Order: sequence, then C-alpha cells, then structure tokens
Amino acid sequence: MAYKMIFDSGKCQGYASCLVEAPEIWDFDEDDDIAVLKQEFPGEELRAKADTSARCCPSGAISVEDVDE
Ligand code: SF4
Repeated sequence: MAYKMIFDSGKCQGYASCLVEAPEIWDFDEDDDIAVLKQEFPGEELRAKADTSARCCPSGAISVEDVDE
C-alpha cells in the first residue's frame, strides 16, 4: 500500500535522527536547524526506513500514513 510522510515542522527540534535513519527521505537545513522532507511519497522499498525515521524522532514530528492509490 502506498504511504505518505507527514511532517509537523513546528515540532521539529533539530535532532537529525530522521536523516540518519532515512537519508533518502530526509535532508537537514543546517541554517534553520530543521529537517527537510525530500519525498512526501517515498517508494515501497523505503517503507521500513520511513517507519524507523518516524519512530526515532524524539519530538514526534513525523508520522507515516497509508494512502489509497
Ligand atoms: S528526528 Fe524529528 S526532531 Fe529530529 S530533525 Fe528529524 S523531524 Fe526534526
């Protein structure tokens, strides 16, 4: 099933754990100390990394939601 990354930038505290877990999906803006979502709809092959990046975010800024194709 397709899925969507949901990023609440207001909650991001700049820990960069998401980038470490899923560099294909996340980038990091060093100037503003905030994560940057590179792919809102990553492929199925990145699902495990997507879920891990959401789980590893200490501030709960990331969630992964299944979407109908
Ligand atoms: S892990 Fe969470 S708090 Fe840290 S940079 Fe990523 S989104 Fe922001």
